[in-house]
Amino acid sequence: MYTFWNTLFFLLNGIRRSDPKLLAFMFLEAVCTVITPYLGMYLPKLGVDLVTERAGLQRAVFLLGGVTAVMALSQMAGTMAARAQTILQNRLRSHYRNRLFEKTLECDYEHVESAEWQKRYHEAAEMSVNWGPWSGTVMMSQGTVKTFAAMFSFCLYGSIIAELNPWLLAMLVSLSALHFLALRRAQKHEVERILERSAIQNGMEYIRTRASDINLGKDLRLYEMAGWIRGYFHHYRDAHFRLRQDVQRHFYQAALVQAATLFLRDAVAYLYFLWLACEGRITAGDFVLACSAVASFSALVTQVSDSIGQMFQALPPLKRMRAYLDAADEPEPDPAACPPAEGTPLSIEFRDVSFTYDQKTPVLEHFNLKIEPGEKLALVGVNGAGKTTIVKLLCGFYRPDGGEILLNRTDIGSYRREDLWKLIAPVFQEATVLPFTIAENVSLCAGTKTDRKRAEECLKMVGLWEKVMTLPSGMDTEMMRLEDEEGIMLSGGQKQKLLMARALYKDAPLLLFDEPTAALDPIAESETYEQFHQLSEDKTAVYISHRLASTRFCDRVVLLEQGQVRASGTHEELLKSSPVYAEMFRVQSQYYRKEAGVSL
Ligand code: ADP
Repeated sequence: MYTFWNTLFFLLNGIRRSDPKLLAFMFLEAVCTVITPYLGMYLPKLGVDLVTERAGLQRAVFLLGGVTAVMALSQMAGTMAARAQTILQNRLRSHYRNRLFEKTLECDYEHVESAEWQKRYHEAAEMSVNWGPWSGTVMMSQGTVKTFAAMFSFCLYGSIIAELNPWLLAMLVSLSALHFLALRRAQKHEVERILERSAIQNGMEYIRTRASDINLGKDLRLYEMAGWIRGYFHHYRDAHFRLRQDVQRHFYQAALVQAATLFLRDAVAYLYFLWLACEGRITAGDFVLACSAVASFSALVTQVSDSIGQMFQALPPLKRMRAYLDAADEPEPDPAACPPAEGTPLSIEFRDVSFTYDQKTPVLEHFNLKIEPGEKLALVGVNGAGKTTIVKLLCGFYRPDGGEILLNRTDIGSYRREDLWKLIAPVFQEATVLPFTIAENVSLCAGTKTDRKRAEECLKMVGLWEKVMTLPSGMDTEMMRLEDEEGIMLSGGQKQKLLMARALYKDAPLLLFDEPTAALDPIAESETYEQFHQLSEDKTAVYISHRLASTRFCDRVVLLEQGQVRASGTHEELLKSSPVYAEMFRVQSQYYRKEAGVSL
């Protein structure tokens, strides 16, 4: 699907979109790269001709001066074009970096959860844009210029030699082809190992960043992990060194072939030119020109194979980047269903829903569940029962393999994703506190767009306002110690409250709580959930927990087991009707009694 030619075209298109001046400079450099050495090669012949013709000083100065001046101009223009390209190549990398960033920001959540996708992103970003001059984008654009110039020069010098003897040209081309193939073999080997190199570098980078990781810092010291971590670092460093050595070995072999072909080529060609000159078949000037053409011809082989090699080296990274950028997301429904009117309490229905992540183990099979408008529902069950999966499906992050999920009797697949997401205010287990101000962390938008009054109200509702007022900059205090020296770090419980304030600020008709309190102790979780409950008003709310006591207040508790509803009813009903629920509750309640002497 991604061939050399369409990838080259993809890049040229990217250049055109990022800054078309780069194309102009590439062309200028290619032209100058042909002209400068050609004139350099022609100059000695001109000198010899002028001497043998006994030309006048004025004519000699005029001709030699003229050619030298053009050569100097072309040299200067070529160098300036190359320099100008380095700035524009940065712009090109930035253009693709933006595209990768946009894709990552907008792609389906399904991709974000996939390890394969994360790997693809790192490979695409690292090798295509983040490796500076060795990035795929830069190498391909440089390779294009050099290949274009070298091929053109190849034909130019070839025509000079062919005029003397076409057979000589055939021999030179054959020997050059041998050299070319040896070089390409080495380069191909380098390309084959490029992914390995990327994996090693990623590993090294991971270990390097862990050394300064704030979260690992304490464990690293107290568990004396430094030696272990250092061992890994050295492992990657040595692997990198070995890989480079292996790549270089292939280039040494190519250098041997180069020496042998060079010797044969030059020996035959120069002897032949000498014979022609002695026989009087060519002038002294032509002899000089022919010798220079052969020498340049030899140098060109290396240039052509280097530049083609450079392009082929850039190919895998660029292909990976294209695959990442082209990865298909679920199409938006057309026409899209209108979202429920604001303020309408939501009803939810899972109707005969089946779902698997990996096409192997089903997580849900013919799952049915109805949640009435304004109902407070608890989804409980052991880890792995499928609670989070239900939430992910409800948020439209994954599509069910069978059945349908209805929101106010409309399949969620027929809502535009943005419309669907507007209806849901979630609080997830993975706390996403960002290094911005407290107010921004509540509103999740820029400070200028934040409704400060509402943010204050929400912080008051969750009981965090008093803490905020003790901070020097109040709601404008930066969270975490990233950029701001004054930045604060909240305790686990305070963080939960902040996330709660965020959900309230969004004021969506459906509240989802996916064990955001798992890091808290059972009593704190229970209290937090009750607080949520009091604030949730007439909104539909789904509470997830594996601790049964936390969700006793709910209108209905659904006990999940291996993706199936095992029991359903109020807490009290289930204690009586479901022995499994009653047993789980009995076992868990011991903790509460032990920890706080609370009677349940
Ligand atoms: P719960 O929330 O009840 O702990 P989950 O819904 O997270 O359960 O998981 C249900 C099952 O799905 C588990 O067996 C889990 O290993 C599997 N699972 C969850 N997420 C993924 C994923 N992204 N890819 C593959 N399997 C997954």
